[in-house]
Amino acid sequence: MFIGHFGLAFAAKKLSPSNNLGASIMSAQLLDLIWPILTLAGIENFSIEPGITKLTPLNFQYYPYSHSLIASIFLGVIVGVIYYMIRKDRTNAIIYGVLVVSHWVLDFLTHRPDLPISFSDEQKYGMGLWNYPAISIIVEILIFITGIYLYFNQSVEENQKGKWLPWTIVILLAIFFVMNIIGPPPPSTNAVSYSALLLWLFVGLGYWAEKNRRRI
Ligand SMILES: [Zn+2]
Repeated sequence: MFIGHFGLAFAAKKLSPSNNLGASIMSAQLLDLIWPILTLAGIENFSIEPGITKLTPLNFQYYPYSHSLIASIFLGVIVGVIYYMIRKDRTNAIIYGVLVVSHWVLDFLTHRPDLPISFSDEQKYGMGLWNYPAISIIVEILIFITGIYLYFNQSVEENQKGKWLPWTIVILLAIFFVMNIIGPPPPSTNAVSYSALLLWLFVGLGYWAEKNRRRI
């Protein structure tokens, strides 16, 4: 899944008005933020095989450290505990922790059975919505739009930056989403990993947006 993760990050504002969009994006996308670093380091690997699913040509062969269920729970607990120790805010600590694990759950919906439970599991899981492009695209867009709607219902801009930064995130993501669907297969795995590092940009944009907005 891609923009669906961001939909949940936006939606978190509804659960807690003091929620920070940057932290929510980092949590909901933590697995995909770590993944390109591990693939570039040669610790995890994938290949490009057009046709492996109808929607994405990426064959995720080995990614237990970023994308096993155990790793996502472990990272979720770490994020929640660290946030709680710094901010003493139990509600947001739980939200950020759950958002980390939500990534695995949403990926489980769309990935073919390539998601491991633990580091050593041979058995892998995934419901494979990427083989049903129409359903997969509709599900992602619905989660994304619902999240954006909830976000803008809970906070308001303080200035022009606060108005345009969240929409910059939305528009950039929409462009990447469409390019992923209609664009040609990526030229190399390194190109995929380096472009995946751009996800960090959205964490920064989220924090920047939040600085220029206030809760309603
Ligand atoms: Zn993922």
